Amino acid sequence: MSAKPEFIDAAKSGNVLARKCVKCGELHLATVYFCKKCGSKGFSNFTIKGTGKIVTYTIMTVPPAGFEDLTPYAWVVMELDDTSELMSPVRISGFLPNIQKPEDLPIGTAVKVVSFDERGIVLKRL
Ligand SMILES: [Zn+2]
Repeated sequence: MSAKPEFIDAAKSGNVLARKCVKCGELHLATVYFCKKCGSKGFSNFTIKGTGKIVTYTIMTVPPAGFEDLTPYAWVVMELDDTSELMSPVRISGFLPNIQKPEDLPIGTAVKVVSFDERGIVLKRL
């Protein structure tokens, strides 16, 4: 997995760094070269507070090679709370350690971005 250093730094500070189109305001979470909505090539960095609620997840009990000591964990899709300036809810995915079974993690559980490592965004329950 490759991620921009500034994206990793933002995650370690509890934020999600997005790229905002200077023309239409569309947000892109991945690095893009032109706006998906209007085709503009101008972007500014836009920081979103990394707190939100779980909308769906998958519990990984059989880890990929090299991740054996990390299971069980949940691969979570969360919807960010900080959408006041945004047109539509922003969803990100991340890693939540030490989840054994669905009872451990009800949909709607509040989580936050706390770090970033080789697996991607690391989340923590609030
Ligand atoms: Zn645009």
